[in-house]
Amino acid sequence: MITSSHFLPQEVIRKKRDGAVLANSEIAAFVQGITRDEVSEGQIAAFAMAVFFNGMNADERVALTTAMRDSGRVLDWKPLHLPGPIVDKHSTGGVGDVVSLMLGPMVAACGGYVPMISGRGLGHTGGTLDKLDSIPGYQTNITNEKFQQVVRDVGVAIIGQTADLAPADKRMYATRDVTATVESIPLITASILSKKLAAGLDALVMDVKAGSGAFMPTMEKSIELARSIVEVGNGAGVKTSAIITNMNESLAPCAGNAIEVICALDYLSGKSRPARLHEVTMALCVELLLTAGLADSELAATQALAGCLDNGRAAELFAKMVVELGGPHDLFEASARYLITAPIIKTVHAGGDGFISAIDTRALGLAVVSLGGGRRRASDKIDFTVGLNNFAALGASVKAGDLLATVYARDAHVVDEVVRSIEAAFTISDQANQVILPMVYPAIR
Ligand code: URA
Repeated sequence: MITSSHFLPQEVIRKKRDGAVLANSEIAAFVQGITRDEVSEGQIAAFAMAVFFNGMNADERVALTTAMRDSGRVLDWKPLHLPGPIVDKHSTGGVGDVVSLMLGPMVAACGGYVPMISGRGLGHTGGTLDKLDSIPGYQTNITNEKFQQVVRDVGVAIIGQTADLAPADKRMYATRDVTATVESIPLITASILSKKLAAGLDALVMDVKAGSGAFMPTMEKSIELARSIVEVGNGAGVKTSAIITNMNESLAPCAGNAIEVICALDYLSGKSRPARLHEVTMALCVELLLTAGLADSELAATQALAGCLDNGRAAELFAKMVVELGGPHDLFEASARYLITAPIIKTVHAGGDGFISAIDTRALGLAVVSLGGGRRRASDKIDFTVGLNNFAALGASVKAGDLLATVYARDAHVVDEVVRSIEAAFTISDQANQVILPMVYPAIR
C-alpha cells in the first residue's frame, strides 16, 4: 500500500519489471502521476514495456482501467432520468467498418441511449469521426453538456473524445505509440475501456476483428483481447460482452469516408443492405440489446431491430442527430449534394480466371491512405472524397477482366500505383477455398 506522498514511479516500474503483482494503490498512484505530469515520458515508456513483457492479472487490469477512467471526468447520466440504459459498441477497427453509423440509431430506436465517443483513423483502418466529418457542418467536437443533451433528445450522438475524458490514456497512448508498446493486451484493454467507461455506460459490446485487415495479428490474440475486455469491463461494473468478427475482406463493399457515409445512409433508408455488413451490424445490435436487457431473446431483439429499420425510425434518428450536431436537414434526400466523391475514377480488373481465394484487406486500407483518405501521422489532413468501391467478394468466381474494385482519386500521380496495389491485394486461384470462415463468431460473455 502506498500513499501519494510515498509514491516513487521507479519503484512501481521495478516491481512490474521483476514480474510482481502491483497493488491497486500503486497503479492508481502511477496513473495519477501520469495525469498530473509527475511521471515522465521515460517512466511511462518503461512501465509500458514492463507490462508488455510481464503482463497484468485481472485485478491489476481492472485497477489500471478504473484509474485511467477516473483520471478525468466520468459522465453522470442519473440527473437526466433517462428511461433506458446507456449503451455503446466499440470496434478494434477495420476496413469498410461503418457499423457505428447504423448501430447507434438502430439501438436508440430500440430504447437504448448511445453516447458514442469515436476515434479518428490511423494506419490502415478508417475512423468513425473522419467519416462523420465528411458531412458538411457536422460537429464532432462539442462540450459534454451538448453531448448529453443530444443523447437525451435523440437517443444517440456520435462525437470525438473531449479533452477531459480519460486524459491519462491520451498521454500513455502517445508514449506507447512511439515505444513499440501498443501491442500489449492489458494496456489495450485499459486504454479502450477507460475511454468507454468514462462515458458512464451501463452496457458495452466489443467488436474484436480477426483476419487480414484486423488490428490484432492472429485469431488467438483477438480471442485473448475479447476475453480480457469482457472480464475487465464486467469487473469495472459495466455489463460487457464481445463478438469476434471476420476482417478477411472489407466489411462494406466500399472503403473511404464520404463513400462509407453514403453506404450507411443507403443501409438505413433500405436502398441497399450489403449482406456481410448487415450480418455483422445485426449481430452487434442484437448482442447489445441482450447485454443491456433491452430484449430478452435473440428473436425479440432481431424483430425489434428489423422493425426500426423497416418503419424508418432508425433513419429518422440518424437524420435528427445530424441536424442536432450542425449538419444539413436534407442529408438523406440530397446526399449527392453533400457527400461528394473524387473526380478521377479508375476500375481495377481481374488478371485471369479463377476464384478470389484471399484478399489483403490491410492493403486495401492502405490504398485509401495513399489516395489521401487516411493518415500516416496523426496531424495529417485527409480528403473525404477519395476511396474505393464495388469490391469483389472473397470466394467469388471471376473471369479475366471482371471488376475487382473502383477507385475514386483526386491525384492523378498516385492512382496507377493504387490500382497496382489493389490488383496485388486480390489473390486469384484455380481452386475455390475449402473452408469458408464465418463473419460472426459466438459471443464471449
Ligand atoms: N485503441 C485504443 O484506443 N487503445 C489501444 O491501446 C489500442 C487501440
